[in-house]
Amino acid sequence: MMRNSFTRITNKRQLVSFHNKAVVLNLIYWSKNGISRTQLYEKTDIRPTTISRLTSELLSEGLIRICGYAQSTGGRRQELLSINRKAGYVIGIDIGAAEIVGLTSDLKAGIIQKIVQPTSSKGKQAILSQVENIVTALSKEISNIIGLGIVTVGLLDTRKGVLRLAANINGWVDVSLKVWAEEKFDLPVFIEGSVKAMALCEKWYGAARNAEDFILVNIGAGVGCSVISGGKIHRGVSETAGEIGHIFIKEDTPLCRCGHRGCLETLISGPAIARTARDSLSKGIPSSICPEGKNPDEVTAKDVAEAAHRGDKLATEIFEKAGQYLGYGLTTLINLINPEMIIIGGGVSKAGRLLLEPVEKTVQQCALQIPRNAVQIRLSSFGDLQGALGATTLVLKELLKIPQLPAM
Ligand SMILES: [Zn+2]
Repeated sequence: MMRNSFTRITNKRQLVSFHNKAVVLNLIYWSKNGISRTQLYEKTDIRPTTISRLTSELLSEGLIRICGYAQSTGGRRQELLSINRKAGYVIGIDIGAAEIVGLTSDLKAGIIQKIVQPTSSKGKQAILSQVENIVTALSKEISNIIGLGIVTVGLLDTRKGVLRLAANINGWVDVSLKVWAEEKFDLPVFIEGSVKAMALCEKWYGAARNAEDFILVNIGAGVGCSVISGGKIHRGVSETAGEIGHIFIKEDTPLCRCGHRGCLETLISGPAIARTARDSLSKGIPSSICPEGKNPDEVTAKDVAEAAHRGDKLATEIFEKAGQYLGYGLTTLINLINPEMIIIGGGVSKAGRLLLEPVEKTVQQCALQIPRNAVQIRLSSFGDLQGALGATTLVLKELLKIPQLPAM
């Protein structure tokens, strides 16, 4: 009995100690130019002797380092502590409909190496082999990889780490991604949806650093969004929340891959923009969208964006219209969710101001005044690496939660 009580108290103390260590590590991790022990004491309710012990532990573990000294105020010079970004490395993999992006980063998103490959169209095993090859190549010559984050398009069961279905990748159905990767690589593995990972990237490293309520909209081969509410990802009861691509915009659109007509995705996705351009070209509308020597039937959204940046009238009109439709979609989100920020990412967002201006104009005209005045709409600045960088934060989140597992 005595023994049990004693064990319980010891464990509770251990838990408090690990909690305190995580608090200290987080403050050090997020400090811009280092933080002193006095500042750590001022920002927490942890006793100075405990802070001293915890920082010594973290220093001896190599997880933090002394990065400089605080200005002397008459007393002893104060050491400034920062994360040792080279204490470990993280691999992030983003499985998209068109490409698989893999990267190795240090503990502060410093990218060491990246690999981009077209996603195989030969089904599940071929894609898994690709992921295996990429992870193997990225971990070559790096000994201290602390974890692997894999994100993918499609519908997931994140609790089980299973991809249920990705409609736009051939054969990418029912994949026990977490179990497979843990067996293959002998690393802690974390799984998430690509668009949610893009939002995590913005929350950790981007424009949404201080935002608790924001939305990341991805416009690429498909259209989806991730809603962060109160600092947390909103998943919904079946983890399908965020399907903004399938909200109704207008009648008479082409048939959507969901089986319905009227979906936003059929109007603004990369394939939709390319299709609109091809239809207009086939009607003989003069334009420089189609590069010389290229078959007009093979024009892509990228061709349209490039032509629009050159001032091509048809291309500019296509993005104006797409921006307007997106504006209708975002108006629904703004009225419904009342976010402080909406960030637009994905391949189509590379159109930049050409897309953003009609979006802002439409939202200005259509959204309710109070939520409209509260929201800032902007473009993502991370490009194609956004999902893979978001994948690395899945591992870092665990690292900052508990520096090492309690010995219970
Ligand atoms: Zn649809």
